[in-house]
Amino acid sequence: MLFDTHVHLNIDSFEEDLEETIARAQEAGVESMNVVGFDHETIKKAMQLVEDYDFLYASIGWHPVDAVDMTDNDLKWIEELSAHPKVVAIGETGLDYHWDKSPKEVQKEAFRKQIHLAKKVNLPIIIHDREAHQDIVDILKEENASETGGIMHCFGGDMEIARQCLDMNFHISFGGPVTFKNAKLPKEVAKEIPMDRLLVETDCPFLAPHPNRGKRNEPAYVKLVAEKVAELKEMSLEELAEQTTRNAKKLFHIS
Ligand SMILES: [Zn+2]
Ligand SMILES: [Zn+2]
Repeated sequence: MLFDTHVHLNIDSFEEDLEETIARAQEAGVESMNVVGFDHETIKKAMQLVEDYDFLYASIGWHPVDAVDMTDNDLKWIEELSAHPKVVAIGETGLDYHWDKSPKEVQKEAFRKQIHLAKKVNLPIIIHDREAHQDIVDILKEENASETGGIMHCFGGDMEIARQCLDMNFHISFGGPVTFKNAKLPKEVAKEIPMDRLLVETDCPFLAPHPNRGKRNEPAYVKLVAEKVAELKEMSLEELAEQTTRNAKKLFHIS
């Protein structure tokens, strides 16, 4: 059974066919999913979804692209919601240097504040890292994020960055890109990540794995990611699924 550790069932793309999407995930062997909220609307929706479905959990935080919009009240609100038993992590937070809606300094400040919050409420952190590997690692170190650990979601860094994250108690999660034919780096890195720190995800509706690249991604496709990672690890899909699901439950404190 698989655990998709990063889904956005809480955005418009799934409004029309949420039930069917969830049914397809279950048919594909997905046992649990972590719904990631990253602004007002998506956090509200994530909190609703975890009430509606037993096997859904939520992570709540503020996306780095929208860091300019995050107020102290928002942070307070996230802190209050984080007491809910089905909120399993803070985030996604981090840095995204691909888009320039929020200046780097603003992103860094919002990131630091969310690390402080995660430590305060004692939850792991979900990190979004786009073209910002070294700055992410530096901030995680400066803020002693190893106290909570968390997930480097849809990891795209090299082994040097991965090693520093592992040293800080973080898990490395792979998504669709590990299946792309021309993507060498995530395949090399996946081979080397210790089995007890490995996770799989879709980040749906984004980044659909091969052979669905370019289409809307959905949680059922986490099986395609898991199959590729199992192949790289030279193990069966069942073994890989069992270990990564165990890792996710342990990290999220799900019994
Ligand atoms: Zn992300
Ligand atoms: Zn995401």
